[in-house]
Amino acid sequence: MKVLVLGAGVVGTTSAWYLARAGHEVVVVDRQPVPGNETSFANGGQISVSHAEPWANPYVLPQVIRWLGKEDAPLLWRWRADSAQLAWGLRFLRECLPGRTRHNIAAIVALALYSRGCLQALRRELALEYDQRERGILHIYTKPRSFAQAVEAARTMRQFGLDRESVSAERCVEIEPALAGVRRLLAGGDYTPSDESGDANKFTRALAERAAGLGVDFRLDSTVDRIVADGSAITGVMVSGLGGGKLLTADAYVVALGSYSPLLLRPLGLRLPLIPVKGYSATVPVQGDSGAPTVSLTDDEHRLVFSRLGDRLRIAGTAEFSGYNLEMNAVRCAALMRRTRQLFPDLKAVGEPEFWCGLRPATPSNVPIIGCTRYPKLWLNTGHGTLGWTMACGSAAALADLMSGRPAAPDFPFARC
Ligand SMILES: Cc1cc2nc3c(=O)[nH]c(=O)nc-3n(C[C@H](O)[C@H](O)[C@H](O)COP(=O)(O)OP(=O)(O)OC[C@H]3O[C@@H](n4cnc5c(N)ncnc54)[C@H](O)[C@@H]3O)c2cc1C
Repeated sequence: MKVLVLGAGVVGTTSAWYLARAGHEVVVVDRQPVPGNETSFANGGQISVSHAEPWANPYVLPQVIRWLGKEDAPLLWRWRADSAQLAWGLRFLRECLPGRTRHNIAAIVALALYSRGCLQALRRELALEYDQRERGILHIYTKPRSFAQAVEAARTMRQFGLDRESVSAERCVEIEPALAGVRRLLAGGDYTPSDESGDANKFTRALAERAAGLGVDFRLDSTVDRIVADGSAITGVMVSGLGGGKLLTADAYVVALGSYSPLLLRPLGLRLPLIPVKGYSATVPVQGDSGAPTVSLTDDEHRLVFSRLGDRLRIAGTAEFSGYNLEMNAVRCAALMRRTRQLFPDLKAVGEPEFWCGLRPATPSNVPIIGCTRYPKLWLNTGHGTLGWTMACGSAAALADLMSGRPAAPDFPFARC
C-alpha cells in the first residue's frame, strides 16, 4: 500500500522506516529543509523509561500553584483566552487523580520499554551513531519529601517491569562523580541502569538517510495546507512548497505533525486533546574531564535533564504553557544555566551555551495518540509530549503493525476507529 506520512520529526521518520520495512511504499512530507528540525532538534536526549510518571500526578498541583506568575518557574502556566488550553487544563486536573496516574504510568512504561528495545535492535541492525550512551539514567532529589515521592513512583514502575532502584546520596555520587561538589545537598536518587541517552536529531537524520536508501521518498520544504475529505473518505493532502501547490494521494495517511497535528485535524471534526508546551535547552561545549556529568541525569524538582552528547552537555526541560509561541525567554534560559552551575560548580565549558526552545506535543496524560480514526484511511502517531524520543521507535513499530493488519506488541491503549 502507498502511505503518506505527514511530518519528518523523530516520530514521522521512525514511522516511515518501520512502514517501509513492512513492505509499504512510503512518501514523507515536511515543511522543513531537513528531517528532525522542529521539536526533535535539541531535546534532552534521554531514552528514559524511568521518566514515565506524567506531569499530571497527585503531587503536582501545590507546586504549580507555588510557581504561578514566576517567570523562571520550572512549570509556567500563562493565562490566555484560549479555549483549547483551558479544556486541556481541566483534563489535566482529572489525570492528577491517583487511579488515572497509575493507569497512565502503566501505559507509558509498556510503550517506552517496548520502544527502547526497538531502538536497541535498530541500532544493532543499522550500526547507527548518534552520540549514544548506555550508562543508565540517575534521578536526583535535594528535598526529602520529593525523594519520598520518588521512592513511591519507583515502586510503581518496578511493578510494571522497570529496573528503577532508589539509592542513597553516596550512591548517587558513586554513579556520577561530577555530583561530588553537591553531595551535601542531595537527599537521594533513583537509578535505572537500562535507560540510555543520545542525540535525537542525529538519530532522526541518520535514520532518514537509511529510509531513503530503502526507497522512502522525502518531500521536504513542503507544507501540508489541508487534509482533504469527501464525507468519511480522505481523498488527498494539499501540499504547497518548492514545486507549487498539489494534491498528494495515497492508500493511507499518517499524521505525525507533532504540536501542529490538531490544527490540520480540526477541520475534519477530529479534536485531539493536545496543546504545545514550550521547553528550553542549552547545549554547552565541553571537553574530556570537564566537571560535566557523563551519566544522564534528571533533576525532577527543577524539571531539568542533563545528557552528555559527545563533546557537548545538553541541559533541557522546563514547561511553559503559552500557545504556539517560539520566542526565547532570556529569564528562562538564565534559570537553566544557574541550576547547571549550582549542581556542577566545577564545570569547565570551552564555549558559550547555545539556547533553543521547542514545542512538546502534550496530551493531559502524556500518553500519546497512536492508531486509527473514524476516517478509514487516516492514522495518528502524535502527542508524545515529554517522551517523544523515548517512545518514537516503539510507537512507529506498533503503528506499522496495526496498519499492516497485525496486532501490535505492547499492552497500550491504541486509538480505535
Ligand atoms: C526541551 C525539551 C526537552 C525534551 N527532552 C526529551 C528527552 O530527553 N527525551 C524524550 O524522549 N523526549 C524529550 N522531549 C520530547 C520530544 O522532543 C518530542 O516529544 C518529540 O520531538 C516530538 O516528535 P514529533 O516527531 O512528534 O514532533 P516534531 O519533531 O515537531 O515533528 C513534527 C514535524 O512536522 C512538521 N510539520 C508541522 N506542521 C507541518 C505542516 N503544516 N506541513 C508540513 N510539515 C509540518 C515539522 O516541520 C516537524 O518536522 C523534549 C522536548 C523538549 C521541548
